[in-house]
Amino acid sequence: IKKTGILEFVHSHLNMDDVGGLENLKRWLKKRNKSWLESAQKYGLPSPKGVLITGVPGCGKSLISKAISAMWQLPLLRLDIGKIFSGIVGSSEENMRKAIKTAEAIAPSILWIDEIEKGFSGLHSNGDSGTASRIFGHFLTWMQEKTKPVFVIATANNISSLPPEFLRKGRFDEVFFVDLPTHRERVEIFRVHLNKRLKDPGVIGSFTVSEENLNRLADLTEGFIGAEIEQVVVDGLFEAFSEDRSVTFEDFEKACKQMVPLSVTQAEQIQ
Ligand code: ATP
Repeated sequence: IKKTGILEFVHSHLNMDDVGGLENLKRWLKKRNKSWLESAQKYGLPSPKGVLITGVPGCGKSLISKAISAMWQLPLLRLDIGKIFSGIVGSSEENMRKAIKTAEAIAPSILWIDEIEKGFSGLHSNGDSGTASRIFGHFLTWMQEKTKPVFVIATANNISSLPPEFLRKGRFDEVFFVDLPTHRERVEIFRVHLNKRLKDPGVIGSFTVSEENLNRLADLTEGFIGAEIEQVVVDGLFEAFSEDRSVTFEDFEKACKQMVPLSVTQAEQIQ
């Protein structure tokens, strides 16, 4: 099943410090450690199911999935739900069954289903709705009744295309909505990416990752997604690199002004 690309181990060096914002989810995670997966029942708690993280693309859903696996030091298996249904690599039901079995075989583990809506959206309208709803039913039953400590992280860009059964209370332990970052969150995302990249004293020059600079950059990036903020940092650094000098606030400022964020492009398309 790994050879088919349906399931892959994700190795990542990312951790919670690489995630700016997403405070609700971070707070929720703080109260839960790896042993929760195995000892919840001892406390009479329901056995952990997983979380559904939904919202705007490029705002850290994948990032935090990797960070959760690093935090709990658990293997992360990414399931490509689109490939399950492609029909190219064997029977869809068998593929799903095998994926679940693999995650259980290495439990405690995390099964990350990225863009879950790709598999289960339009369940009642696509051509092969019979198979899709059987798999969906099987998956939900497994989620409800699983005995092995497999934590599911489902990520979705578009919650409205998910079947309502998915969102029913008790399916997941919690559903988190990731929106465009707020001013405070943009400050944190800039902090992550600036600190990550600014290492060389010759490149840093007199630029500082100060609260003042972070706030000014956040002011300039209303409506930007996390991935665009990262790009602004990269563009600013490239400007300095191309002129073989240290970076300045103005480099990042210019990069902010030149970037047309996705949210603006989408708004224009709607008009
Ligand atoms: P998609 O659904 O398009 O995959 P996503 O929400 O999963 O989007 P990520 O893949 O996590 O988004 O984000 C893309 C990149 O943007 C990340 O690798 C990271 O570098 C940067 N990024 C996005 N959000 C954040 C954040 N909250 N903090 C730090 N970096 C971020």
